[in-house]
Amino acid sequence: MISDASAIILLRSDTDPNSPEVFLVKRSDTLAFLAGIHAFPGGQIDESDRDVEVRNCDDRQLATMISGAARELFEELGVLLVHGGELLTKGQRASLLDDLEAGRMSWPTLLQHYELHLDANDFTFVGRWVTPPFSLRRFDTWFFLATCPPRQEPKVIPGELASGEWIEASEAYNRWLRSEITAVPPTLHGLKTLSAGMTSDLVERFLSTPIAQGEPVRRIEFRPNYICFPVRTPTRPPATHTNCYIVYSSTEMLIFDPGSPYEDEQLALASTIDELRLEGRSVREIVLTHLHPDHVGGVNTLRKHLGDNVGVAAHKATAEALSEIEADHLIEDDEFLTLHGEPTINLRALHTPGHARGHLCFHDAKRGILLTGDNVLGLGSVLIDPPEGNMIDYMKTLERLRSIPDVTILFGGHGPAIATPYRKLDEYINHRLEREQNILAAVESGITEPAEIVRAVYTDVSPKAYAMAERAVVAHLEKLSAEGKIEPLK
Ligand SMILES: [Zn+2]
Repeated sequence: MISDASAIILLRSDTDPNSPEVFLVKRSDTLAFLAGIHAFPGGQIDESDRDVEVRNCDDRQLATMISGAARELFEELGVLLVHGGELLTKGQRASLLDDLEAGRMSWPTLLQHYELHLDANDFTFVGRWVTPPFSLRRFDTWFFLATCPPRQEPKVIPGELASGEWIEASEAYNRWLRSEITAVPPTLHGLKTLSAGMTSDLVERFLSTPIAQGEPVRRIEFRPNYICFPVRTPTRPPATHTNCYIVYSSTEMLIFDPGSPYEDEQLALASTIDELRLEGRSVREIVLTHLHPDHVGGVNTLRKHLGDNVGVAAHKATAEALSEIEADHLIEDDEFLTLHGEPTINLRALHTPGHARGHLCFHDAKRGILLTGDNVLGLGSVLIDPPEGNMIDYMKTLERLRSIPDVTILFGGHGPAIATPYRKLDEYINHRLEREQNILAAVESGITEPAEIVRAVYTDVSPKAYAMAERAVVAHLEKLSAEGKIEPLK
């Protein structure tokens, strides 16, 4: 499902048009969607947004979007971008906000009651972006450029946001280039566009790309030089796509997990790779994180497209299990894959079994980036299906990933990037340990059949997930038995 949303690129009043300052916020670490990521304030449209009248606007939908943007700006930062409210004191605005938050007054009632009104001329439409289909929560977000009213100072109201600051767009963009912040495509596009100054063609530059006009984003660069390119695959629900990653320098690139068996998706990926080749790069290798079909389904087609000199690299256990794909390079634990050019990128391979025997993760220590494959996901839960899956190995893998210092982002095989790596890894480890305790307790109470254990322990999952849960139970039982905590399995 795609929900309507709007967001505001808030400019500081009297900002220098050559180097405008914007209000950039950081999303809270505890959010389910895009936690810890830098963005512009905004959020989902509320039913009540439709009941607000906006002056100088005869388009109903546009009015609703403006109303939503203004409400979110007020709720998240306390900034009231209205006419008629110029005489309101800071204290009065705070009490209005309190009325709205506490539900004593709806947004339309509040505006009406205090004789405030929104004016479309205060909100410049600068794009419409649709969340890629790698996420369950998807938004069709309208972006507006607006200037912060003088004498109002945005202040992050604790909740969805962790912090916020005025920053020159060019400085924020440079922070992204230095891998210091994580941003989604519309944020990045906004910062980059404003970096060139508030020229007369500003709006035109904002709208110059089809992805700023509702066309789905394919190429997502949460961090520079790492393109996440979700491709549609026959994968496990709730995921519908597998993330292919293209890591590039000025002269070379590596392609991780071109997983789609579908021709249209293979073509889309090939054309993005071709664009990067036309800029003077060559494909070094196709690299596989592990053997599952949704990660390798497009390898042979891509290889044919790229020509014979492009090889496939994988762990030995992966290479041996794949009869249809020939691996030219066996990657061992601790081996470095180096991309030459600008910048030089060193990726250390980590053999991380658990989800699959030959699973590899890749760590870029300089940028704090960890490619986690299917060991850690931005969407859905990780399947541990013996004998390919192994819970003892998996727990060791999670601990190993957890022990790597200074990681700032996880790029998983499915779903959005994870900008809260240690929180996520702790959550994964604690979740498995808790399951294990409950499974042990079930066994001690006399339940022995995995299917019965699932019904006793997995009370929080839908029966649709029982088959997968049963495999996990078998994996936990193997681990408990190997550790001598339960009788050896028959
Ligand atoms: Zn997998």
